[in-house]
Amino acid sequence: MSEIVDVSFDLKSYEYSEAFRIANNVKDKANNIEVKVYLKDGTVGIGEASSSYRVNGEKVPALFALKDTLKEMISGEDVRNYRRIFNITDGLSRTAPSVKAAVQYATLDALSAVIGLPVYQILGGSKSKIHTDKTIGIDTIDNMVKKSIKTFNDGFKTLKIKIGENLKEDIEKMIAISEATPGASYIVDANQGYTTKTAIQFAQSIYAQNVNVVVFEQPIMWNDLDGLKLLRYNSPFPIAADESAKTKYDVYTLIRNECVDFVNIKLMKSGISDALSIVELAKTANVGLMIGCMGESSLGINQSVHFAAGTGAFTYHDLDSHMLLKEKFHGKFKQEGDALIPNPVV
Ligand SMILES: [Mg+2]
Repeated sequence: MSEIVDVSFDLKSYEYSEAFRIANNVKDKANNIEVKVYLKDGTVGIGEASSSYRVNGEKVPALFALKDTLKEMISGEDVRNYRRIFNITDGLSRTAPSVKAAVQYATLDALSAVIGLPVYQILGGSKSKIHTDKTIGIDTIDNMVKKSIKTFNDGFKTLKIKIGENLKEDIEKMIAISEATPGASYIVDANQGYTTKTAIQFAQSIYAQNVNVVVFEQPIMWNDLDGLKLLRYNSPFPIAADESAKTKYDVYTLIRNECVDFVNIKLMKSGISDALSIVELAKTANVGLMIGCMGESSLGINQSVHFAAGTGAFTYHDLDSHMLLKEKFHGKFKQEGDALIPNPVV
């Protein structure tokens, strides 16, 4: 009764409340795909793919073209044997990782309905609540300081600050933000905007000013592993890989080459299956973990809330894209300030 009999894709477009700027990129819209799996007994499981051309090389029309093939690949599989469905869809890792994430999550969502257990408990039930940061996109110094103060006063104790376009300005921004929000922690994300040299200059300059950076994310190009290693040993702050860390193989290579202190897992880069492997790899190697997002609505963020609470593996949670989009909340979690609570009542 819990075999998959059909799959559907629906395009859902969400506008950002204001243009979201990161180093060398601006977004004003997220074109996400709602993926549903239908079981023989009428149960429907739902997931969301928020694709990224910049990181994954994905384009929405190409992803849509996969629907019939995907249906063929997983039809007849029972969601109670979800590992089989994970193994089949692992083949999408390099071409359509966001669709892989959505269909793998939809499988778990359907299983959750079949057995009456929330997804976060299927994944281990480690935590009943997690806390997220909130992101401040690239803007003028004045605007970034104002937004940081508001976000901190709204209850977000960790602020994620986007930088990477101008070294001198970035240093000034971080010092100004730090002075305006005493007690806050900062994840700074340069989205590959620096060179190894400028990244070291940035980190050492703001460290000397006592700016409380807890993670310095993807300062340089994703494929520059020598640079990352050099940076890691010259930065007073922990270095995290995001764009460099898509599959479990990427993370294995990063760890073996001593390139990272932290890995930023995103389900949209790795799907559930690789994300589970990366969690174990990182724990084994004593590398820290954060979890991030692309342009997911609350439906897609729900996936990461359940994953993060279930595995309990993350020091930092950057699950805020739904707060930056114009949308009506539709996640299976509750939000209280910076707290995200998976299925509080079943
Ligand atoms: Mg990032």
